[in-house]
Amino acid sequence: AESRSFEYNESSQRVLFGKDVLAKLATEVAALGCKAPLLLTTPQQASAVQDLTQILNGHVAGSFTRATMHTPTDVTEEALVYTKTTNADCLLSIGGGSTVGLGKALSLRTGLPHICIATTYAGSEMTPILGETNNQQKVTRVDRAVIPKLVIYDVNLTLSLPTGMSATSGLNAMAHAVEALYAKDMSPIVRIFALEGIRALASSLPGVMENSQSIAFRSEALLGAWLCGKCLAMTTVALHHKLCHVLGGTLNLPHAETHAIVLPHALAYTAPDIPQVMKDLAEIIPHSEGDAIQGLNRLVSKLGIPSSLKALGMKEEDIELVTDNLMMLTFWNPRAVNRNSVQKMIRRAWLGEQAR
Ligand code: NAD
Repeated sequence: AESRSFEYNESSQRVLFGKDVLAKLATEVAALGCKAPLLLTTPQQASAVQDLTQILNGHVAGSFTRATMHTPTDVTEEALVYTKTTNADCLLSIGGGSTVGLGKALSLRTGLPHICIATTYAGSEMTPILGETNNQQKVTRVDRAVIPKLVIYDVNLTLSLPTGMSATSGLNAMAHAVEALYAKDMSPIVRIFALEGIRALASSLPGVMENSQSIAFRSEALLGAWLCGKCLAMTTVALHHKLCHVLGGTLNLPHAETHAIVLPHALAYTAPDIPQVMKDLAEIIPHSEGDAIQGLNRLVSKLGIPSSLKALGMKEEDIELVTDNLMMLTFWNPRAVNRNSVQKMIRRAWLGEQAR
């Protein structure tokens, strides 16, 4: 075997995982030396405020329930003004990537510790990444200060995640791990997380679709999502994430759905230059029969994921604009990003043809 050298950065983050772990919240808040959390969530999950207030025996500083997709800075500023009128000594976010994003943005501006209760598979709670939008511009920064101090994964909270969202959010998570497998800063540690994360999600998501209330399938999917989030935290993303970022930023396409549609196509583009990764993936994605792209295509159709970018509202003339914007970015990908070839791939995803 050849000798290896790599860097590994671990964060000082505490994670509680399991069924009913939310019951430990009050003890955990106290262990961080905090007494008055400010609750953060979206309008759709506003009822979580009452539940958490009860679990915390009424010891909350207040609540802000207007977290929004892509973390717009005007919403953050509004939340910041509100936070200053309270005696909050920590931030407690409950929700998916949108809510976690607000928690990260506020913790960066206030220095308050951030506790996160994750309820989707997006994985933001594991990463030092914060993407904020201001005047339709999405600016992403990487700062270890935004990594939440404590993350709670209580499988009970994922039972209400609608099946459609579970499928697309699960594919979003898998994409983090797939791109980690061929990242230029991949390490043996990341590989372990990535393979197990992909395996856990690919094998549990069909079960979640059939029985969304199954604790066993939900638990496996959530564990997979955690591992995949770690992959995103520890590697530099390539073509798949860059393309999704452009699609989201330029056309405001929905985050998880876009990832779910693009993944098989972006992977098929890069496949010729990553034979070992494709072999590894074919072994862990069910029904691959030696071909991971086929396995992914089957998984995507079994999960009932929207089949095309067209179905998300993207117009044919946008293919050119998206290609232009992608080509303006500088990033590394195992297979060089050739304008014509990549545009053909984007067109396939737009049409909803099978990836190959
Ligand atoms: P989301 O947070 O926008 O959630 C989608 C909707 O589902 C919201 O209305 C939310 O309230 C609701 N919801 C969430 N969990 C639920 C549950 N268990 N039951 C019922 N409803 C629930 O979606 P997302 O895909 O988790 O996050 C997308 C955002 O996160 C994007 O802005 C993306 O850029 C960001 N993101 C950031 C990172 C990072 O590392 N910084 C990683 C992944 C995603």
